Amino acid sequence: MKIAIIGGGPAGLMAAEAASTAGAQVDLYDAMASVGRKFLLAGKGGLNLTHSEPSEKFLTRYGTRRVQIEPLLASFGPAALRAWARGLGINTFAGTSGRVFPKDLKAAPLLRAWLRRLRQTGVRFHMRHRWTGWDEQGMPLCSTPDGNRSVQADAVVLALGGGSWPQLGSDASWVPLLAGRGVHIAPLQPANCGFNVGWSEHFRAKFAGHPVKSVAIVMQSHTGTESWHPGEFVITETGVEGGVIYSVSASLRDEILAKGLATLRLDLTPDRDLPRLTHDLSRPRGKRTMATHLQRQAHIEGVKAGLLREVVSKEDFADPARLAAAIKSLPLKLVAPRPLEEAISTAGGVPFEALDERLMIRSLSGVFCAGEMLDWEAPTGGYLLTACFATGRAAGVGAVEWLGKTVKCGLGK
Ligand SMILES: Cc1cc2nc3c(=O)[nH]c(=O)nc-3n(C[C@H](O)[C@H](O)[C@H](O)COP(=O)(O)OP(=O)(O)OC[C@H]3O[C@@H](n4cnc5c(N)ncnc54)[C@H](O)[C@@H]3O)c2cc1C
Repeated sequence: MKIAIIGGGPAGLMAAEAASTAGAQVDLYDAMASVGRKFLLAGKGGLNLTHSEPSEKFLTRYGTRRVQIEPLLASFGPAALRAWARGLGINTFAGTSGRVFPKDLKAAPLLRAWLRRLRQTGVRFHMRHRWTGWDEQGMPLCSTPDGNRSVQADAVVLALGGGSWPQLGSDASWVPLLAGRGVHIAPLQPANCGFNVGWSEHFRAKFAGHPVKSVAIVMQSHTGTESWHPGEFVITETGVEGGVIYSVSASLRDEILAKGLATLRLDLTPDRDLPRLTHDLSRPRGKRTMATHLQRQAHIEGVKAGLLREVVSKEDFADPARLAAAIKSLPLKLVAPRPLEEAISTAGGVPFEALDERLMIRSLSGVFCAGEMLDWEAPTGGYLLTACFATGRAAGVGAVEWLGKTVKCGLGK
């Protein structure tokens, strides 16, 4: 049985491993000169493979897609993933936040060991093969440096990634190819992304590149309940970006889509409550400047003071109670998410509703999908890779099972 995997990111490589282990002859095709480029980039800041939090909490990270992802994680979840890495000689550890990393934090040693093992099990790699559509027989067609080439396989797993960081290979060029075969694709959108604010020239020139530390974002749900997200972020030339922003970016993006604007509420002094802050700021200022008063009484200086000056009116600045309220809930108007190309990940893609339980496209017999090209999203924290590995494994196993059980009537028919 011959299975073609198109796309050599973590999802495609895992599909290749699963199918090859189950006895299939696996050929893996990728548009780039080497596989796993985004995976290697992910390793630059410390490869966050998965998360060690309890399964119930872990599953909530997939939002409404929990229903579809849960059974896949039951087969290959965080613990299985860590054991799998150990099998490649890569031990992992959970940091204080619960995030799980390889001992040396890097992606390259893991990828090297993995590729070695895949080659040993007989997986054949075909680089610079860009999938461009289907030939007259309905087989996948790739453009290669030697011209067009049809892929000969009994089943195909597409693991083509989302649309972020297209320079690393996943450029979403698959969207019109699948849409052209009648597969409904949920529009691709940036996930775990930054936002445009529209800073004043003065603020941008002075603070672009500055980190804003020890803050919290206060989010309000439709029902009015507040959630509190501590962390840090960076002021960029155009707006805001970074860890705590990513953690709430999905709902901010959706709010902008619905209303044209979203308001981010920042708590600049998470360790001091409003009554205490109001009391501290109400102390007599004497001859001290407002900047010194803020620094002494509230430890607000530098970029935090700059943010206050950027957002708060002169009148509110002069009133200790109103100033304290602004410090505890500073409204930042977000006008647009940053483009998909810059995002960490992609929302949207092939909806699970278009797939069967083996991740085969219902309307394209023998064509399976895995990884970030599926319509799910999750925050950073290892949840992205975990679901890519789990869906890759499910699609690889699914293709083998389907071939074992099905009298084929032809790929993609
Ligand atoms: C800066 C950064 C840091 C990240 N850090 C983390 C992290 O620490 N933890 C975490 O969980 N996630 C992280 N992620 C996200 C994670 O890397 C991705 O979710 C994951 O790589 C997606 O895997 P995938 O296999 O679905 O797609 P990809 O890794 O995007 O792989 C898709 C592959 O398909 C190939 N391809 C695309 N189109 C074609 C075509 N037409 N023909 C042939 N081949 C094609 C591409 O060349 C590529 O090799 C990070 C992402 C970024 C950008």
